[in-house]
Formats: sequence, C-alpha cells, structure tokens
Amino acid sequence: MSYDFDLFVIGAGSGGVRAARFAAGFGARVAVAESRYLGGTCVNVGCVPKKLLVYGAHFAEDFEQAGGFGWSLGEANFDWATLIANKNREIQRLNGIYRNLLESSGVSLFEGHARILDAHSVEVNGQRHSAERILIATGGWPQIPDIPGREHAISSNEAFFLETLPKRVLVVGGGYIAVEFASIFHGLGAQVTQLYRGDLFLRGFDGSVRRHLKEELSKKGIDLQFNADIERIERQTDGSLNATLKDGRVLQADCVFYATGRRPMLDNLGLENVEVKLDERGHIEVDEQFQTSTPSILAIGDVIGRVQLTPVALAEGMAVARRLFKPEQYRPLDYRMIPTAVFSLPNIGTVGLSEEQAVEAGHRVQIFESRFRPMKLTLTECQERTLMKLVVDADSDRVLGCHMVGPEAGEIVQGLAIALKAGATKQIFDETIGVHPSAAEEFVTLRTPVSR
Ligand code: FAD
Ligand code: NDP
Repeated sequence: MSYDFDLFVIGAGSGGVRAARFAAGFGARVAVAESRYLGGTCVNVGCVPKKLLVYGAHFAEDFEQAGGFGWSLGEANFDWATLIANKNREIQRLNGIYRNLLESSGVSLFEGHARILDAHSVEVNGQRHSAERILIATGGWPQIPDIPGREHAISSNEAFFLETLPKRVLVVGGGYIAVEFASIFHGLGAQVTQLYRGDLFLRGFDGSVRRHLKEELSKKGIDLQFNADIERIERQTDGSLNATLKDGRVLQADCVFYATGRRPMLDNLGLENVEVKLDERGHIEVDEQFQTSTPSILAIGDVIGRVQLTPVALAEGMAVARRLFKPEQYRPLDYRMIPTAVFSLPNIGTVGLSEEQAVEAGHRVQIFESRFRPMKLTLTECQERTLMKLVVDADSDRVLGCHMVGPEAGEIVQGLAIALKAGATKQIFDETIGVHPSAAEEFVTLRTPVSR
C-alpha cells in the first residue's frame, strides 16, 4: 500500500515540529497540520511570552534596588500596551522562524484543523491525506472549573492579550502558571491575591521550597490565601468583579485569572473513528514507544500528559523520529532527573527528588540547606533571601535532588542536572571548586547536614 506521507503530524507545537523536522531530515515524507499558531503553546501563549513578561515584571525590583548602588532615577512608569505590542512582534518573528524551519526541512505544512478519518487518513480543510503513521501532538488547553460566573474569568490564553493591566487581580490555583502570573501581575504593579484550595501551593515540589517561596512572595506583598476557593463570580455595574468564596467572604477584583490545570486537546480530532484508548485523566495512552492502541497512530507531548514541559515534548518528538526513521540512533527516553524552573520572582529551580519523595522512596536522607541574603542585595533595602538545598542518600552519598529559590535558579539548576544525571555524589560536589563570588558556589560549599 502506498501512502501520500510516511508521517502525518497533527499539531505544529514543540513536540510536533521537532518530530516533523527530524523525520524529514532522516529522509521521510512528512506533513504537519496546524490549526492555530506555528510553534504551539510554548511560543504563542506559554514559555516564551511568559518569560518576556517575567523579565518585564523584574524591572520594578531593579529600579528599586538601583538606588543602593548610587543611581537616582526619575519616577518609573510602566506601559502595558508597549510590553504587549513588543511581545506580539517577537512572537510573530518566531512564528516566521518556525515556518522557515518546516519549509526548509521539506515538511508539507497544512494550515487548518486536522481530523483523523481512519488509522491511516487525516482530513484538513476538506482534503484527505493518507499516511503510514499519524502522530498526535495536539497539546493541551486551560481548564477552568464550571462555577457560576466562569465566563467572567480568564486563563493564561487571554492574559497575554489583555488590553490594559488590571488594577486588582485574583489568581486562582497553586501550580506553575498561577505562581508565575501572580509574580508577573504583582511586579507590573497590580494588587494581587492568590487563592489556593489546599494548605500550601506547589504540591509535588520540595517542602522547604514551597514554604520559602510562600514567605518571599508574602514579604513582597502578594496576598496569599490558602484553603480558599471561589464559589461564584458576579460582574458589578461598574465593570468590576465580585468573587464569593466557599467560606462566604466576597473579594473584589478587576480580573479573575484561573490557572487550574490543562486538559488534553482532543476537540473534534476524530478519535471516535479509531481505536485510541485514553487514560483515567483523559490523556492519550501510549506505550514506551509512544504508540497508541492503534499501532499506526502515535502521540507525544502534553496530550499524553506525562511531563508537561517543552523540553520533554521536544525529546519525545525526537525519540519518535529516530525510532521510526533512524533506528540506529534511537534511545528510549529517560524521565528521571528532569530539571525544571518556576519563573516566579524569585525563581524556583529544581532537579531530582524532593526530600519528601526521597523519604517516601525509602532513602535514608541527609539534608543540606542554606538560606542567605544574596550579595547583590546587601547594598539595598531588599530583604529577599535565597534558599539552596541538597537531598543526599546517606548510604550511597549520591545527590538525589537539588532545589533552589532565588535569582537565576533555573539557570543554575540546568548545570546541576548534568551532575545529577551523571550520578554525582556529595563528595564530588564537595571536591568541586566554587565560582566566587556567586550564589551558585553555595551548592559546593554546603558542609553540615541539617538535623531533622
Ligand atoms: P503544544 O505546544 O500545545 O502544540 C500543540 C499544537 O497543536 C498547537 O499549536 C495547536 O494549535 C495544535 N492543534 C491542536 N489540535 C489540532 C488539530 N486538531 N489540528 C491541527 N492542529 C491542532 N514549559 C516549559 O518547559 N517551560 C516553561 O516556562 C513553560 N511555561 C508555560 C507557560 C504557560 C502559560 C503554559 C500554558 C505552558 C507552559 N509550558 C512551559 C508548557 C509547554 O508550553 C508545553 O509543555 C508544550 O508547549 C507542549 O508541547 P506540545 O507539542 O505537546 O503541544
Ligand atoms: P498545574 O497542574 O501545575 O497546577 C494546577 C493548580 O490548580 C494546582 O494547584 C491545583 O491544585 C489547582 N486546581 C486544579 N483544579 C482545581 C479546581 N477545580 N479548583 C481549584 N484549584 C484547582 O497546572 P498549571 O495550569 O499551572 O500548568 C499546567 C502545566 O504547564 C504545568 O503542570 C507545567 O507542566 C506546565 N508549565 C510549566 C511551566 C514552567 O516550566 N515554568 C510554566 C507553566 C506551565 P492541587 O495541587 O490541589 O491539585
């Protein structure tokens, strides 16, 4: 049987583009369908614009601290419209780069919504295409609970395109996006209240990190309210919003921003036409080679719901391209020791096991922890403190986890991830010479374990 394509990728996001480009580079005949925006979530409404807004928000602190170094600045003014326009221009530039990347690698791009017709056929814009294999890389979509007045709330998708910066923002949720956007809105000048339904936000992160960030964000003036959730939202005649909490309190805001997780994007994908099983959370179920219950259909990225991070989607895309078209270069993906950062202000950087996970996994742990005021702040009024923590296996001396809350934590943890991946022991950390003066050197000078 001959097909139009060897691989038909649905979704030109992080994972889809990577798989398509590499498969084409290995000589396969590849097509990609994209319904919304080239580059997917990360480029358009995720990592990239988010990081640009975080940079923007950080200037507030930079201006404040500059005085300690002898600078006197006029009154600082922030213009949201300028930031958003510049951000949009940069995203457009990146969209163009993604188009060039696909075209120059020989991938056929179909701009439109793709629907699976059967195990080897996809329809886009009324045209049917056949393919030996179909790769679903359709990503995810924000999920807002179905409460009365839900239509008044926004998600991250809309936040990137608000016409004005709201004065008072209620952020709902306690995950990556909620924490990052609380810092963005606060840094840019809004009054921010963050509501989280549990005792402490960032479930799954190391306990010291969660407590430390809570203290730092509170010190900065973000109103953190835990064990709090919204029951309903009502628009007032003056345009503002009243959010009634489950405990009966009413909070007023100009914007209610929900970041309560993301669902897999399967809308009108035609899954009813094929045998593709979903897991209990509704994500596409795949085996270790990203194959669904229909062997010719594969899936990667957020839609399979393993680790919802761009570098993971990229690695999955690469693994699929290699397994199918360059098997001699194929290596199964290792999901251990994935470093990650939360770009709150201050940042979190983390790799490996949290103290709680290490104990749970049966390790006898030694904990090394340091909290200090970074050198840069010593000439300023800012009382922000940095946290660094190592979780070590007391029996093997292996470092199981590194955690940091502080400036550039993501940048620092990327390097440490290589050491942990290579199996570094605490002794190797101790024998490593520091870079002085830096904050990062603290990771190689932690000598005395904390007693628990
Ligand atoms: P996506 O990038 O979502 O791409 C899926 C593509 O498929 C989309 O372009 C969509 O339009 C298209 N599509 C869907 N259905 C169809 C269809 N039927 N036909 C045609 N096209 C279709 N990760 C990080 O690592 N670091 C970060 O700092 C970070 N920040 C984030 C901030 C925010 C606000 C959000 C929302 C996410 C962030 N992420 C971050 C997560 C990251 O964006 C995702 O993990 C990543 O984009 C997943 O890639 P993907 O290829 O699975 O899907
Ligand atoms: P997360 O899954 O990280 O967090 C969702 C949050 O919403 C949790 O605190 C959860 O609480 C809470 N929640 C869920 N349902 C409800 C509900 N019905 N009512 C109230 N609260 C609720 O999702 P995000 O939306 O923040 O981000 C999605 C994913 O995108 C992240 O998991 C991450 O993988 C990726 N991402 C990565 C970033 C990075 O690398 N820097 C940045 C942004 C996103 P509970 O803990 O109690 O379940």
